Amino acid sequence: MTILRLRGDAPFVLRVGFNDHNPVLDALLGKECGGARVPVDALVIEGHWAVRHKDLVDQAAAGRQLVIDYRVDQWTIAGASALPAGRAVYSCDEIGREAKTIAADAVAAQRNAIWTLAPGCHIDTVGGAAWDATLRLLDETIELIGEMPWARILGTPAALATEDGSHRLIEELRTRGVEKVMLTVGPINSDGDGENVLRLVQALGGAGLRVHLTHQGAIGLAGLAMGAQSFDAGLLGQAEVFDFEGYRALRARGWRGRSAHPRAYAAPLLVSVRKEVLGKVFSLKAVRAAFECDGQCCTSRIDGALLYPVTHFMVRRSSQVRSVLDVPVEMRAGQVQTLFGEAEKLYEAIRGVRRTDRTALEGSDLTVLSERMSDVHRASRHLRRVLESSHWAAS
Ligand SMILES: [Zn+2]
Repeated sequence: MTILRLRGDAPFVLRVGFNDHNPVLDALLGKECGGARVPVDALVIEGHWAVRHKDLVDQAAAGRQLVIDYRVDQWTIAGASALPAGRAVYSCDEIGREAKTIAADAVAAQRNAIWTLAPGCHIDTVGGAAWDATLRLLDETIELIGEMPWARILGTPAALATEDGSHRLIEELRTRGVEKVMLTVGPINSDGDGENVLRLVQALGGAGLRVHLTHQGAIGLAGLAMGAQSFDAGLLGQAEVFDFEGYRALRARGWRGRSAHPRAYAAPLLVSVRKEVLGKVFSLKAVRAAFECDGQCCTSRIDGALLYPVTHFMVRRSSQVRSVLDVPVEMRAGQVQTLFGEAEKLYEAIRGVRRTDRTALEGSDLTVLSERMSDVHRASRHLRRVLESSHWAAS
């Protein structure tokens, strides 16, 4: 019974990217890897991709795993794909004025979902137009569904991840009786930002709020250490960074997305890397054992990570998340630090394979790996600073 309760409160959650729906559906149905089923408690699908992702939406709804994230925050970006048909752009004031209708549409879009999220705007100033619109949307959603939804809070570290911002946020949520928050704060451009995002998670958790963090990389694991109940595992690291203004700038230049190099999950390093680089890492005798996986993806071969990337990612990532969530809260930070420490040690071992060894990685492969590992180094540093000091960092 205890285990069931823990899993319900602290689920393993996967956010589905634009092109992830078919591989994820195949993995869910056991089609990717000889009948292997993947462990996932909730699948977050962006509201505006629900039609594109319809088969996966239906499957997730049937399996009681569906979460729809209705991205009203993107409506203020000209040309964003989240905008309702026929609309070029909204202002936050307009969203606030039309909050009743927008909340009704958002709730309708979430039928069959296991969580109901009140949509929110992108907050760059506490007390500004986006803040007001977000609270209006929250109030209208509460009124409409007659129970407490999740608050969807998005914004910049400068606005939200500060002592004052966290107090104001906690006060507004408490006044309404909200207990659950889906939190997106970024971009994280400095150590101070990363540290303060973790402090915000800690403050919300300390106030009794359940936090789901949408950050997907190592910083998500650090969030668990600070009391978040869960975070988005982004499939194979395709969308780990949240940068609202960066996205606005890209849209303004006509950017429509790009396909990334196929990646696979280097589980003990906690990062996804290009398949060809991971393949080379597997050939290093000195570190090979660290990559063993007891999932069905890898029962007969070491390179199951390359052949069945989605199944392997979900099997390994969920077991890492479980290794943190299944220990008492006060031990989670230590557990995450252990994961970070082991990843960093293994990375050093890969770098240390002598250049005279014919299987040693090329300089360019090491560069790719070192770029990916910088996420782990940063998150590890942010977590250490939060654990060492109780002060908010100057931003
Ligand atoms: Zn595997």
